[in-house]
Amino acid sequence: YKLNSSNLSHISESVSIPQYNRSKLKTGIVHVGIGGFHRAHEAFYTDQLLHDESVTDWGICGIALLDFDAKIYNTLKEQDGLYTLIVKELDGTHTPQVIGSIVEYLFAPEAPLKVIEKMASADVKIITLTITEGGYNYNEATKDFDFDNPLIQHDLKHPNKPKTIFGYLTQALKLRKDRGLKGCTIQSCDNIQGNGHMSKRMLLSYVSIAAPDLVAWIESHVSFPNAMVDRITPATSKADIINLRETTGVEDAWPVVCEPFKQWVIEDNFIEGRPAWETVGAQFVSNVEPYEKMKLSLLNAGHSVLGILGALLGYDTIDEAVNNPNVRSFLNHYMDVEVSPVLGDLEGIDLNDYKQSLLERFGNINIKDQIDRICSESSAKIPIFILPTVNAQLAENGPVKLAAFVIAAWAIYSLGKDEQGHTLNIKDAMASLLSEKATAAIENPKAFLEIESVFGKLKNDSNFVVAYTQAYKNIIDQGVEKCVIAINYNHE
Ligand code: NAD
Repeated sequence: YKLNSSNLSHISESVSIPQYNRSKLKTGIVHVGIGGFHRAHEAFYTDQLLHDESVTDWGICGIALLDFDAKIYNTLKEQDGLYTLIVKELDGTHTPQVIGSIVEYLFAPEAPLKVIEKMASADVKIITLTITEGGYNYNEATKDFDFDNPLIQHDLKHPNKPKTIFGYLTQALKLRKDRGLKGCTIQSCDNIQGNGHMSKRMLLSYVSIAAPDLVAWIESHVSFPNAMVDRITPATSKADIINLRETTGVEDAWPVVCEPFKQWVIEDNFIEGRPAWETVGAQFVSNVEPYEKMKLSLLNAGHSVLGILGALLGYDTIDEAVNNPNVRSFLNHYMDVEVSPVLGDLEGIDLNDYKQSLLERFGNINIKDQIDRICSESSAKIPIFILPTVNAQLAENGPVKLAAFVIAAWAIYSLGKDEQGHTLNIKDAMASLLSEKATAAIENPKAFLEIESVFGKLKNDSNFVVAYTQAYKNIIDQGVEKCVIAINYNHE
């Protein structure tokens, strides 16, 4: 059966379906970026919550913001917003379930004004975001909003036909203010330290130029909770779609696959109310910073370490990389020696347990998380996942050898070939600059560190540069695996 509302009762014979009346739901949440992660995480939590039928205010409207999101928009439209979430359990079995919390969907390039109206609707109390790390338009060199981005310039000139999240939010908040409506909460679900602070700071930078009168209203009417989000959600493969059809008879054009683990730690700062997500496993706390820092510096950084080293070694998936004992040992030492000491106080968390569980999650051979996905947009990820640890260590004169090794590997990765000479599939908004600097680095390794929007002033730190240059030469001479075997961890 094709997945849609009218086929749900047939489908329920093989897959569990939403046991609540979707037509009774009001849309209280607008979500921008209906990629895999949103559908495995927030939409899943919300679906669980909606099984309490007294909850009717928190249906989700999914916004596809970019041109290339036409496919997900069309899929959701064809399927009445329904999709299958397939949890890949540790024992290799699959638990599929149809999720019903997305009750509306809009394609922004086709209907920008509808999107703005929806964001400004009185029923909508929360606008959530998964727009990727790069979507925040933050420039590491200036530590500020990037007004040079041509899309931002476009939005400033065409406020009613925006292309970026900043243009949309500004117009929607302006409408709310002009109509005397209440404010709302803007909640980032992206992997960024202080994602609420970042959202607020970037939005206010844009608004201060685009609509200066709106700044004070936003300050008093909009809240931006920080949150730590976690659930490994690889890209859906063709095999996943076929497997679902063959094992359940459900024809879903775009199911989502994910690991069983999930975590959502949210700062309780919702100016116009919120769903009781805590009843379905989310944690509300007054300060999420330690959780965020731990997760970004261990899980996300760990992913990048495995992704970059694994790509050069010719692996396709994260489990292959972490199940190589030499790479695993490198990651273990990186986490213990360079990351753990700078995490600060993590009250109530057993760090060793956490690191151990990460290795198990990375090693899940059923997840098959693609190294290409992990390495995509590294220019936006490395400054968030790895460089804060490096900077904290350098400030204390602490060890950075392993992080420098990873950055050197990234410089070599950016040449576009793995160690067997196979072409790497590099997806990065900065791909051409990375490639240019990577080429210059063959003669002068330091050239790669000149990309200030990624590395800031790191090129001026002689401790880092020495470690990085040495690692660069070693990897070129001997390859990643020999190098990681030879690293003397005792001299950290
Ligand atoms: P995906 O490729 O499935 O979807 C990406 C989504 O981001 C798309 O909906 C796209 O429209 C949107 N997007 C991309 N660039 C944008 C921009 N400049 N402005 C607005 N929207 C933009 O990826 P995903 O797995 O859904 O991951 C999205 C984000 O979610 C990640 O970047 C990360 O911050 C966060 N996240 C993902 C995972 C995971 O395991 N996949 C885990 C935790 C957090």
